[in-house]
Amino acid sequence: MKYIFITGGVISSLGKGLTAAALGTILERRGLKVGLMKFDPYLNVDPGTMSPYQHGEVYVLEDGAETDLDLGHYERFTSCHLTRRHNLTAGQVYEEVLRKERRGDYLGKTVQVIPHVTDEIKNRLRHMGQHENCDILITEIGGTTGDIEGLPFLEALRQFSLETGPGHCLFIHVTLVPFIKAAGELKSKPTQQSVAKLREIGIQPQILVCRSEHPVDHETRQKISNFCNVSVEAVIEEQDVKHTIYEVPLMLHRERLDELVLTHLGIKAPPADLRDWEKLVGRMIAPKHRARIAMVGKYLGVPDAYKSVTEALFHAASGEDVGVDLVKVDAEEIEKQGADAFLAGVDGILVPGGFGERGIEGKIASAKYARENKIPYLGLCLGMQVAVIEYARSVAGLKKAHSSEFEPNSKEAVISLLPGQDINGAKGGTMRLGSYLCHLSPGSNAQKAYAQSQIQERHRHRFEFNNAYRLNLEKSGLKISGIHPKGDLVEIIEIPDHPWFVACQFHPEFRSKPDVPHPLFRGFAQAAQHHAQKK
Ligand code: GLN
Repeated sequence: MKYIFITGGVISSLGKGLTAAALGTILERRGLKVGLMKFDPYLNVDPGTMSPYQHGEVYVLEDGAETDLDLGHYERFTSCHLTRRHNLTAGQVYEEVLRKERRGDYLGKTVQVIPHVTDEIKNRLRHMGQHENCDILITEIGGTTGDIEGLPFLEALRQFSLETGPGHCLFIHVTLVPFIKAAGELKSKPTQQSVAKLREIGIQPQILVCRSEHPVDHETRQKISNFCNVSVEAVIEEQDVKHTIYEVPLMLHRERLDELVLTHLGIKAPPADLRDWEKLVGRMIAPKHRARIAMVGKYLGVPDAYKSVTEALFHAASGEDVGVDLVKVDAEEIEKQGADAFLAGVDGILVPGGFGERGIEGKIASAKYARENKIPYLGLCLGMQVAVIEYARSVAGLKKAHSSEFEPNSKEAVISLLPGQDINGAKGGTMRLGSYLCHLSPGSNAQKAYAQSQIQERHRHRFEFNNAYRLNLEKSGLKISGIHPKGDLVEIIEIPDHPWFVACQFHPEFRSKPDVPHPLFRGFAQAAQHHAQKK
């Protein structure tokens, strides 16, 4: 197996994750088996305990690992199957080193960053090398070159590439080439300095991917080549895409990135067949229809906080030849000004997941607005919980219905913890996480959408539909269309007599791909399109 390491320079948010994922797309279409993983140099054991303001979305894997959102890109752009071993944080590395120290594994020695921490990082890579059944493992290193916390990772990679010998490892550095308006030119200095930082550590990147808002001309490439000791052909550009991130593989292929990679690694493979991907992108760029969809959330200032949700919506809509005009609505604003001020005229209302009380009444009001005005509704996790609370309050006569997350002493907690569950326990990795089985009721919208009777979906939540109220709610007309058989947990609810009101306790957004939209998002997009057409 060969290894590609992707580092980032100059600033964060350059799209290293996308570059890694897009390279994966191309290499798979050259007939290669590709694995992807990410190193995150922060000290949290996983991002599950971080706020969306800090970190954006937490992406949940099949096995319940709470991971970096770049793993979402990996799964959407390639057919790789990821597990908790594919996201290594400094927190996990230190946790393991300290556990070994206490056990006495290093007895007599001083435990140090080099070699003990770096060895642990190399162990993970070797383990992946032995167990990951692929031709190339692409590893993205989080953060920016020059960060203190990233140093042990880079040092470990330097050692690793030395130990594996020439031709086995390839370093790609994603860097920024800014355009300075006043000077009217592209500037290569930041790239020179960030590559100099890498070379100081002993890493010479073989390929530079230059992120830029403008085309990177030959002269600039030549200059970067000279100063960075990288051949001019291997200085390539990655301009900002015009329409969608799914253009990135096509763009990088035009820049011959895959050819460069395979030449460096000495791998022979057939040319890339990207026709399917080109078609997909073509459809995304020029959809025939349009629909206005409101997403009612509260972390709206962070573009990445709902990454998988907006991607899944985009996949489903473009699959139906629909362009989405996404209206991001702040739930707290609905509390102040009423739902009508924001939701009048939309073709679909989506309430995604969330934690904490802020904005909760705005979300409940959105579910009510969708139900009463027969606007297609898709509720995800908290989006299902608020729909249940709303139905209980407005239809089943449980005026004080709430979730015990927001009102711990609620007398009508239609959403609550399961018996024995302790809210005051440790917070890291203790939610209901990962893939669970769900049985679908025949004839329900959910079952029709999936065209299956059993599904597996990923979860990330602590609270559940309270079965003590199930009979009452069902009698009032709420339809329960998905059940997790072990423990009889409600997974999906629907409102009959409504064009499309489906809400689920799980997170379908984590399983959507551009070429395989998720059934529930597809059903929602279809309903929204019908709604738009009727108008
Ligand atoms: N806060 C809710 C719970 O913990 C919903 C979580 C979510 O939407 N991911 O159950």
